[in-house]
Parts: sequence; structure tokens; C-alpha cells
Amino acid sequence: MLVDLHSHTTFSDGRSSHSEMVEAAIQRGIAVYGISDHLCFHDNPWTTKPHLFEDMRSTMAALKTGTSSAKILFGMEVDYVPGCESRVALLKADNGWDYIIGSVHYLGDWNIDSNAPDWEGKDVDATYSRYLDLLEEMVDTGLYNIVGHLDLPKKYGHYSSIDLTEKYLSIGQKIKAKNMAYEINTNGRIKPCNDFYPHRTIVELYHQLGVDVTLGSDAHHRDNVGQFFDEAAAMLRAVGYTRICYFEKGEKRYLPL
Ligand SMILES: [Zn+2]
Ligand SMILES: [Zn+2]
Repeated sequence: MLVDLHSHTTFSDGRSSHSEMVEAAIQRGIAVYGISDHLCFHDNPWTTKPHLFEDMRSTMAALKTGTSSAKILFGMEVDYVPGCESRVALLKADNGWDYIIGSVHYLGDWNIDSNAPDWEGKDVDATYSRYLDLLEEMVDTGLYNIVGHLDLPKKYGHYSSIDLTEKYLSIGQKIKAKNMAYEINTNGRIKPCNDFYPHRTIVELYHQLGVDVTLGSDAHHRDNVGQFFDEAAAMLRAVGYTRICYFEKGEKRYLPL
């Protein structure tokens, strides 16, 4: 019984329609499928444009009331940038999302995960430190349900030389205290880091803390829906997880793993 809560369609930077993504999810036996297009606070080509919001709401409403064998959820992957809190709260109230994946893609004006050469000359340790501070701030807001791709700065193969265990521990405690979850984002397996986000050592740490986990393929095309899920589920079971969670109308629910 698998859950895939992270996917993108042509409403943001995905290349398949809502119905194509849902069809792929059903074919792959996904029991709970969520679509979570991008919402950014920077002007970029991959954010969902405001004029599409109404269409997105009606498209999702039609899918949710359809006769699909999977439970369909309306999520959104919303960026965190300092000062965005009131806008997130307003958008959350207006759109009736089942859940929000909170992601840090920007450090100031630098979009850390779109262009590998942008990392040239960057202080990797300082980047991790800044990124994780923002991630922690995001959790503190209490506006988000799921922490997206938790160790994203590793995408292009850059790793901190400093032991970040204490920082990950602190973030994990806060995720739990806010009744949130983190995702195993399997899309990292097709990126230069060739690993799930977050790395297994963090998954082990969070299992010990009792932090809830969910799954997301971060698919931008129907072919990637549920990618590497057998491997991810096996890893979660090996670590000791016996259930995965999802959010429906903001309420956390569980499925056995
Ligand atoms: Zn993302
Ligand atoms: Zn995404």
C-alpha cells in the first residue's frame, strides 16, 4: 500500500497532465496519490502562475470526485523564503490543499538546485549551514505538513565537511513536535548524487526519534511516478518503519508499510 505525495504537472514544470499522472499512479498500484505543483516566491519558469490557480482547483476537484481506484489528494510544493508566512497562510486558506510540502530551493536569490555550475566557488559548508537554518525556520512556522527533499544541497554531489548530526536532530525533533512528516524523495536517484533525499543515516536518526515519514517520487513526467518505490519501501522497513503517513485536509493518516 504505497503513497506518492510529490508530483508535478504541466501546471508548473511537469511534462504530463494531471490525468496522465493519475493514470500512471493507478497502473503502478499507488493507493494514495497526491499532486503537488510548485509555488515559489521568486519569478521563475517552474512556479505555477497565479492565473492558473482556479483551473488547478477545478481540475483537482474533478479528479477527487472521479471514480479512480486511488485516493487523490491536492497538495502543493510551496517554497519557504523568510517573510513568506502570511502569503502561505492566505494561499492555504484560499485553495483547500490537503497538504503542503515545504521546500527550500532558494538561498537569497540563488536557486541551489537548478544549475550545477552555479555551485562553482561556493563555500559548501556555509551553504549547508544556511540551507538547514532556513529549513528549520520553515518547520518553526507550523504552516507546512511535509519537509521536501531534506538534504537537497547534495544534489550535484556536494557534501558538508562538518558533522551535521546535531542540526538534523534538532530539525527532526521540531518536525515531530509540529506533527509534520518528512518525505523519502526518490527523485535524487536520477540526479548526480544518486541517492534518496534524505540519506539513510538521517532516516535512521528520524526513526529513532519517532518522526513520521511519507514517500514522494517528485515525478515531473508520468514515467517517473512511483520511481524506485520498492527500494525505498525496503529501506524504510529495514530501518524499522512499519507505516507511512499522508495528509488529507491537513489531517495526518497512516497506511501500513
Ligand atoms: Zn523541490
Ligand atoms: Zn518537487
